[in-house]
Amino acid sequence: MKVPQIIAVAAAAGKTRFAFEILPPLKGDGIEPIFRSIDELLEFDPAYINITCHRETLKQNVRSDGSAEYHLERRRPGTVGIAAAIERKYGIPTVPHLICAGESKYSLEDQLIDMDFLGLENLLVLRGDKLPTEVSFRPAADGYMYAADLVRQVMAMNHGTLTSHDTTATHKTAFAVGVAGYPETHAEATSADDDITHLKEKVDAGAEYIITQLFYDNGRFFSFVEKCRKAGIGVPIIPGIKPLTTFRQLTLLPRTFGCNIPRELEEKVRAHTDDPEAVRRIGTEWCLTQCLELVAAKVPVLHFFPNGHPADISPVAKVLFKD
Ligand code: FAD
Repeated sequence: MKVPQIIAVAAAAGKTRFAFEILPPLKGDGIEPIFRSIDELLEFDPAYINITCHRETLKQNVRSDGSAEYHLERRRPGTVGIAAAIERKYGIPTVPHLICAGESKYSLEDQLIDMDFLGLENLLVLRGDKLPTEVSFRPAADGYMYAADLVRQVMAMNHGTLTSHDTTATHKTAFAVGVAGYPETHAEATSADDDITHLKEKVDAGAEYIITQLFYDNGRFFSFVEKCRKAGIGVPIIPGIKPLTTFRQLTLLPRTFGCNIPRELEEKVRAHTDDPEAVRRIGTEWCLTQCLELVAAKVPVLHFFPNGHPADISPVAKVLFKD
């Protein structure tokens, strides 16, 4: 089933669904730990499972003579294979992420062909981030600067037009595309309004829903949704959720995801610096309060980011999604 349909059914029933995101294993690890982490969350009846996509990074190999050799390597390959394996094993729809970063439009086209042959119907289309060695994001040769361009490529394939052919292909893909949105504005955006203008470009290009970056202040989500609606963005906006579970995340989460930690949450956590269990309890309670308010506001899906730790989200999901 396609995600826009799942969202529509949930919205019509007024019943918020559970969804979550997984990371492919590090190169060299097998798929079993992924299956085990999914097993832990099956009781919450996931509506779909997203699989992140990771661009290449610079890897150093030291030769026997002591000199160094560098090459680009993906630390977590396998997004498409994992998506297909999960659908086959569990019959749950998957949403592989597809990123522009490091890819030409031709290699992206080949990935899309693989996904189509594997029966994958859902995609989250993203730009990806700059390499740590870059000052700002640079597209690959024959690649894209913005996610909207890749959404257009996918939509062209849905109409039977390939990037690598002058002629129209006989086969039309049928991908349903989601994109990312930022309640607290993307770090590189020139302004919050510009960011929403560019988000609308992705929707106008064919994206059918938006998943947001994680946030800890529902006020920021609700105001983002209102601004999107005013800007003419009508598609469903799914909140991204991650409980804060460690003291370190107080600084790590804002730095990595550009989100603010509300003062009240920060003060509560700082009062328990030496008590990891108390920090976990405080973060979990905060997350549950957030989720209950979002469910009351009738969001169709809560999209969780367990980042390889299903136990972080289980206590919240147990309250919300266990009949
Ligand atoms: P875009 O929509 O292209 O926007 C990037 C920036 O460019 C924004 O500041 C935007 O305002 C600006 N912009 C857009 N169009 C224009 C224009 N025409 N002119 C000028 N400025 C413009 N990253 C991964 O590598 N792998 C993942 O699996 C992954 N999953 C994610 C899942 C979610 C739910 C979210 C929220 C993010 C995820 N990311 C992932 C991170 C994402 O790749 C980064 O945040 C990236 O920096 C931006 O991606 P985007 O698709 O939002 O980019």
